[in-house]
Amino acid sequence: MTTESVATTPTPQQKETKGGGYFVSNYPPFNFWSKDKVSAIHQALDNPGDPDTPLGLYLHIPFCRKRCHFCYYKVYTDKNSSEIRNYIDGMTHEMEMYAGKKVLGDRHLQYVYFGGGTPSFLSPHQLTNLVATLKSTLHWDRVEEVTFECEPGTLTEAKLEAIREIGVTRLSLGIENYDDHILEINGRAHRSPEIRRAYDFARSIGFPQINIDLIAGMIGETDENWTECVQRTLNLEPDSITIYQMEIPFNTTIYKEMKEKGETTAPVADWETKRRWVDEAFSALEERGYSISSAYTAVKNPETTRFVYRDSLWSGADMLALGVSSFGQFKGVHYQNEKDDGPYLGRVHKDEIPINRAHPMTEEEKLVREVILHFKKGHLDRGYFQDKFNVDIYERFKENFAEIQKEGYLTLNEDQAVLNRQGLLRVDTFLHSFFLPEHTPVGK
Ligand code: SF4
Repeated sequence: MTTESVATTPTPQQKETKGGGYFVSNYPPFNFWSKDKVSAIHQALDNPGDPDTPLGLYLHIPFCRKRCHFCYYKVYTDKNSSEIRNYIDGMTHEMEMYAGKKVLGDRHLQYVYFGGGTPSFLSPHQLTNLVATLKSTLHWDRVEEVTFECEPGTLTEAKLEAIREIGVTRLSLGIENYDDHILEINGRAHRSPEIRRAYDFARSIGFPQINIDLIAGMIGETDENWTECVQRTLNLEPDSITIYQMEIPFNTTIYKEMKEKGETTAPVADWETKRRWVDEAFSALEERGYSISSAYTAVKNPETTRFVYRDSLWSGADMLALGVSSFGQFKGVHYQNEKDDGPYLGRVHKDEIPINRAHPMTEEEKLVREVILHFKKGHLDRGYFQDKFNVDIYERFKENFAEIQKEGYLTLNEDQAVLNRQGLLRVDTFLHSFFLPEHTPVGK
């Protein structure tokens, strides 16, 4: 959620994995958000919100036990317990400052997302207190989904019970791999015995949805090990599985080491191999009855297993973001908080909402944003865009679609533009072609 290194790098047409981030998580790209647009978000906050627009809450917990070598998030691994307490107090005060804002009015939360970092780094006591304050400040009674990201090694039984107790419905386990050597050389803090222990206990206390995150192409990954990872995941029978293809953004430890050695190719599998691994995983999951619901996700039962956060946010929901470097949006205005904990806490303690930059979207940008994000699910509904934006996307993006069709990845049906499996596996490489010219790197 708090990555900086996205959507600014040209797509990886090359075979090898080079440095740079190409995964598109939002639009317009973050480097077009600016300090001089912060007044636009304050204006949005100070006016009534649309009661029909879903409202979400994102909380950024920026602490981790160790920094993974591929990590590009804003995280701290060296904070003591009083600094963590201070941070939570700061976030609580930040929430209180929003409480009287007109844009919230009487609106009820639809979803809550605890991201990081590692939310499960917090103690049961800290979590319980934090959520008690949030519940006393926001209407929480109609929440459809509460997602909580976890690092398996932080999950004691008491912690999992506290996480269930605060109302988490979707537990997301950052497993990434099951091989202890691969976990070790990639800088992960957890080990395989912790996975099974945490998973079994989480299941036994009845979380409605458990998601498992995997990464295809960590350093040291092999065909044999990947098959084993998929098999072990199938054995756990999670409700959903999210698989990312490893990329190496510029602010990762891996990239810094590559630079020091003068290397341009990352020490991970090439793109074709990573796509093949995801393809194999998707096929194995489909054989077990799972459905592929996006370029990254398989779900056991699409009727009951939803991902409200993703679907609402990608369709323009408002989202209140709390914590250092958090991203949110209200009434079509994107915003991000201060990127470092010093300025973040400094401003909160001065009773200032700590927003650092913003971007009010034009109608055209809103359309492109939704086309890009919805395409990650593998299809675009023509009628949806006609109804919402009064635009026929087949006409508006004729050339973009023709290009993808020429490569054999897309079919345009009467109602839907549908990517085939090979198209879905490389969808992020197409997305930059939809960017408006002013957001496209020169020469692309
Ligand atoms: S656990 Fe996640 S957020 Fe923390 S360092 Fe690793 S990848 Fe980054």
